[in-house]
This record gives sequence, structure tokens and C-alpha cells, in this order.
Amino acid sequence: MSTHDHPFGKPICIWNFTDQKKVLIDSEGLGNIFNHPEIKDRKVAIISLIGAFRSGKSFFLDYCLRFLYAHFPSINNPNKEQSDSFQKNPNWMGDEDEPLRGFSWSSATNRDTTGIVIWSDVFLHTMDKTGDKIAIIVMDTQGLYDKETTLHNNSRIFSLGTLICSIQVLNIANRIQEDHLQYLQFATEYARFAGVDSLEEKKCPFQKLLFLIRDWNNPEDHSYGIDGGNQYLEEIFKINQDEKSELAKVRQSISNSFEEIKCCVLPHPGRSVASSKEFDGRWAQMEADFKNELQNIVEHLLLPDNLTLKKINSNESSGSEICKYIESYFQLFESDEIPKVQNFFAATVKSSMNMLLEQCVNKYKVLIESKGLVKEEDILELHEECSTEIMKTFKMTKKMGDENHEQKYEIKLRKQINEIYEDWKKSQFETAEKMKAEEAMLKAEEAKE
Ligand code: GDP
Ligand code: MG
Repeated sequence: MSTHDHPFGKPICIWNFTDQKKVLIDSEGLGNIFNHPEIKDRKVAIISLIGAFRSGKSFFLDYCLRFLYAHFPSINNPNKEQSDSFQKNPNWMGDEDEPLRGFSWSSATNRDTTGIVIWSDVFLHTMDKTGDKIAIIVMDTQGLYDKETTLHNNSRIFSLGTLICSIQVLNIANRIQEDHLQYLQFATEYARFAGVDSLEEKKCPFQKLLFLIRDWNNPEDHSYGIDGGNQYLEEIFKINQDEKSELAKVRQSISNSFEEIKCCVLPHPGRSVASSKEFDGRWAQMEADFKNELQNIVEHLLLPDNLTLKKINSNESSGSEICKYIESYFQLFESDEIPKVQNFFAATVKSSMNMLLEQCVNKYKVLIESKGLVKEEDILELHEECSTEIMKTFKMTKKMGDENHEQKYEIKLRKQINEIYEDWKKSQFETAEKMKAEEAMLKAEEAKE
């Protein structure tokens, strides 16, 4: 096993399990990343690789890191120069004999990544078109479907990974099989709870899905790269047009769960990469066509115009918001039981409603306190004016869940607004009394003179 130290970051395991039951969560590590002062208010792109054990995921992510370090400053490398507009560095792959560093990556056969791992360093970019400041986070997952991981734990990793990321890369050897599509069952079930029944609604809960096929053996049928991959995917998704068949249903619900689904087929990397014990990740030892396609697909995923931002309930969310969601998903793992899909959905609804509630209450507070000292007869009217405005914002904001949820939170909001109103009213009276007393004192002093 060989671990390569990286000058700017290291893998942080945020979610892990020691055995079938015990789950370890690193909330501090999670908070350090998502609530970092540079990240908490930014929109975030989160790229995640998921797939079978020892299928080259960490290897691929380390090349992603190489691309990102070549183009963007990061929280641990803030001095990297950023030009006014994004320019691709054609030499981002670096020197041909530079060993690969980053996520614990090895050519040994024992597994060395467990659970969900996030790269501790986060990349920062300002979008040319919109001026939006965004953060880019890279996530690795434990090898699914190796002999030590139970089916339950596989589906836990898969569900969490899907909920957290905005770009899900499903890493697969050779070709897509029916059970690979079954991995996506969580996403599709979740979509059902989110009320996504038809394609027209376009309310897909998840953003981008890329099937990344390694060691593609059929370049005569579909050429290497994203075009050939997309053709192949179309073929897979076309099978069985019969609406009622199970196979067709699986495909239909996958399409409804993600905003965009693509596929890329990669050639075999060559003997050194696949089987040499001495191989250290340098691209000098890769087959030329593999290196080419690797470069293309990394750019396809990570060029700023192609980055997909994390949305929750159709809104692009900030780092600190996403952190709250992730924490609420983690809470579901505190008991021994495997959480059901509907619980994840309920947790998302609850977090999003609590955040909306907090925003509305704060807005009311700022609004009413900005009014200064108000005449006694105007106090109630002013409160009604402000609270009507806030209630309108609450009603107009797109929400998850059903009417019952909305009503429940509307009652909570009214109650909290009223509490602030009562405090504010009290302070108005107190200030008025104080001023009256001061005036009276002044008058008395004047009279004395
Ligand atoms: P992970 O367990 O999925 O993270 O796999 P690793 O990234 O640790 O890679 C496991 C092994 O697969 C290493 O020896 C890599 O050199 C090798 N590898 C990387 N990419 C490919 C590929 O596209 N095809 C094959 N056959 N092997 C690869
Ligand atoms: Mg790995």
C-alpha cells in the first residue's frame, strides 16, 4: 500500500462504519469544510465517484485534483493567480513522470478507503458569466460491493453519496449491467417522494449522473469518449419500449431522478496501470488513447461552464445550508436500523422548512427594528404591515412537502413573529417612557432657571 502525501490537502473521512452497525461521523471535519468562512456562503459543486472496489475511482479523482489545482486557487493554496477570465491550461496533466498524489490511492489489493471521504482542500472560482462565487468539493466513496461490505452498507453509502453530491460519477468496469441500474434505486425512490412523476415536471431532485465505463471493449460499436458513451447509453435505455415492463420502469424513473444523464467509455489503460505493482500513477505509462480520453472526460466534468451546482429542492444551496442537510441525513444513521427513503425525504423537508422559518423570522426582526421609534397609535399597524410582507415571502417561496407541512410551519412562523413583536413593542414603550421622563426633567430644570 502506498499513500502519497499532497502539499495542500488530505482525505477526510466524514462518514464511516466500523462494523455492520456502528457508524462513525466526523461532524467537525464536515463543518470545517462546508462552514469554512470562504465556503459557507458560496454555491457549491460536489463531484463524487462511486462504484465497485478497486475500479480506479481514487486514481480518476486524483487526476481531477490535478486539473483543479492547475486552474483554481483553493482554501489551502489561496495565492494561486486567477486571471480575469477562465483559461484552460493545456498542460494541466503535468509532467509525464510525476507520481499521482491525493486520495489514498494504491496498486495493492487490500482496500484502503472506507466510507465517504472528502478532500480537505476546496477550490474557489468566480464564474465568468454570472460573477457567482462558487466552491468545488471532491468526494470519494468506499468501494461498493467488495466482499467485506454488506448489502445494507452498500446502499447506505450509495444513498448518502447521491444526497450529498451534484455530480455523481458511477464508475463501472466493462459495461452497464442491470444491477448497476438497481444501484440507482434509492435516487429513483427518493424522486417519487419528492413528487416527481413525469418528465415534464422537470423537478428532478438530483443533478448530473455520469456513467464512466472503464476498459471498454467495443470501440467498433461505440467509439471511446463521451459521444460513443452517450450512444451506448441510449441503446441501454432504449431496450424494451414496453411501458409496463420492469426494465422500462427502472429506466424511466432514473431519467426522472437526474437533470442530466451521460455516459463516457474509456479504453483500457494498459498493463502498467492495470497490473504493475510498481506503477505510481504517472501518465508516461498509460496507453496514449487512454491518456487522451482521461484528459477529455476530466475537462468535460470540470471546466467551469460544465460544473453543476448542488441544488436542494430546485434551489442552488450554500455551503452552510448543505452542511445542515448532511447533518440531518447523518442523524438518521444514529440508530441501528437502516433508514427508509421516506425518512431521508422527511429530513430534507424538515431542514428546508427550518431554514425558511429562520430566514423569515430574521427578516421580520430586521424590518421592524429598522423603523426606529414609532408613535404609539401606529405600532400595531406597522407590525401588521411587516408581518404581512413576511407571510407573503413565506407563502411565495417554493417548498417541499405537502400542505400540512406548510400549515404547521406557518403557525410556527406566526408564533415566533408575535414573540419578536411583543419584545419590540415593550422596548418601544420603554424608550417612549424614558424619553418622556427625560423631557420632563429638562422642563423642570428649565423652570428652575
Ligand atoms: P478504487 O478502489 O476504485 O479507488 O481503485 P484505485 O483508484 O485505488 O485503483 C485500483 C487499481 O486500478 C490501481 O492499480 C490502478 O492503477 C488501476 N486502474 C486505474 N484506472 C484503471 C482502468 O481504467 N482500468 C484498469 N483495468 N485498471 C485501472
Ligand atoms: Mg479508492
